[in-house]
Amino acid sequence: MRVIVVGAGLAGLAIANGLKKNNIPYAIVDRETAPRDRNWAITLGWALPLFQKLLPEDLYNALNKCQPDTTLDARVAGEKGILVRDGMTGQQKNVSRFPAIRRLNIQKAKRHLSTGIDVKYGKRLVDITIGHGEDDSLVTAHFDDGTSETGTMIIGADGGASRVRRWLLGDLAQQEALPCDFMNFSFTLPADVAVQLDKEMNPTVDVGAHPSNMYFGIFLLDKPEMDKPETWIFYILATWRLDDKNERAPGRRLDELRCRMDGWFDLYKTVVENVPDDVDIKPDQLRIWKTKPWDNHQGRITLAGDAAHSMTFHRGQGGNLAIKDADEFVNSMVAVQRGEKLIQDAVDAYDKGALLRSEEVEISRQASMAFLDYENFDKNPVFKMGISPAMKF
Ligand SMILES: Cc1cc2nc3c(=O)[nH]c(=O)nc-3n(C[C@H](O)[C@H](O)[C@H](O)COP(=O)(O)OP(=O)(O)OC[C@H]3O[C@@H](n4cnc5c(N)ncnc54)[C@H](O)[C@@H]3O)c2cc1C
Repeated sequence: MRVIVVGAGLAGLAIANGLKKNNIPYAIVDRETAPRDRNWAITLGWALPLFQKLLPEDLYNALNKCQPDTTLDARVAGEKGILVRDGMTGQQKNVSRFPAIRRLNIQKAKRHLSTGIDVKYGKRLVDITIGHGEDDSLVTAHFDDGTSETGTMIIGADGGASRVRRWLLGDLAQQEALPCDFMNFSFTLPADVAVQLDKEMNPTVDVGAHPSNMYFGIFLLDKPEMDKPETWIFYILATWRLDDKNERAPGRRLDELRCRMDGWFDLYKTVVENVPDDVDIKPDQLRIWKTKPWDNHQGRITLAGDAAHSMTFHRGQGGNLAIKDADEFVNSMVAVQRGEKLIQDAVDAYDKGALLRSEEVEISRQASMAFLDYENFDKNPVFKMGISPAMKF
């Protein structure tokens, strides 16, 4: 058996680590040659025990190195939970707690998880062919540099705009854009403002909804030098409904955000006022993909993570589900390797599970839109479900 993992994000690297731990041959490729300029942090909660199963002990035990604040204890983080405020007053509306939470800076996590894994970078998947010479059971991934990898199966862990998904489903693989504007950008602050913010904000997630039907969150991304607050990197996530024409306002993005902060409580407003004028806010879009069943070609091609179910971040489930997929997939491959299951049966069962897990796409969409509907804010699935999984696992 040989598994070709396409994509070295959270899902792909969790899969590669799990396969390696179980002595299952694999190759892992990624189109990137340098880290993307986008970065954020994720909240891992319910998937942590699965992550522990997949990773070598030393990597799991050193996960704190990937945290925005390496000193934040997972139990303390769980106790502080996910804070949702009323954006006008700053008052707490809801806190979702969990026994243990780890915030992981996604770029640092990718570097950490690739320790000991031979990721072949600079390989963008462009095509897949089934059968290799006389052997019908094999499948080949072709890359834009003219090279290819052949194996028993391909797992597309290539993110929300997955090429593998497009190969499987054509136009049905197309993501849907949500009717809201979205900003995700990072910045540093003057030392005194950074210290004050660090003291006042919730250390994991600190977000709010405002009567102007807007969502805003402030998060820590990294503390490169603990004793130099001017180096601490924060980031903002903000969303609001687009007008009927779905048009973004012209002009500088930071100016638009500053205008929209009218009426927000002081802490959030002060942060936005102190964002450096020359900050780079790239165009962004919230996209989702409501999973449709795919033909796995006799168990030779499947999907994991955002490729299998891409969702919005407001309930913090995408990364947790990517790890759940990885665990389920590795379990399936172990059963095949041991001769307990045929590959077709194992992948059929895995696909069925991925399809069930994708109910979160709609739940997260509802959570995102509820943040932009202040009158009905209390119906937000985040209040009812916190950051627990939608399914009982
Ligand atoms: C702002 C934000 C906040 C979030 N917060 C949370 C949170 O709190 N909790 C949580 O659980 N989740 C959260 N998520 C979601 C989480 O980050 C994602 O679900 C998770 O990172 C998905 O991992 P992935 O490996 O499936 O995809 P990705 O991380 O997108 O990785 C895909 C990889 O595939 C590679 N690739 C793409 N196309 C090709 C190709 N053609 N050939 C080869 N390689 C290719 C890419 O370079 C990339 O490295 C958040 C997401 C965002 C954007």
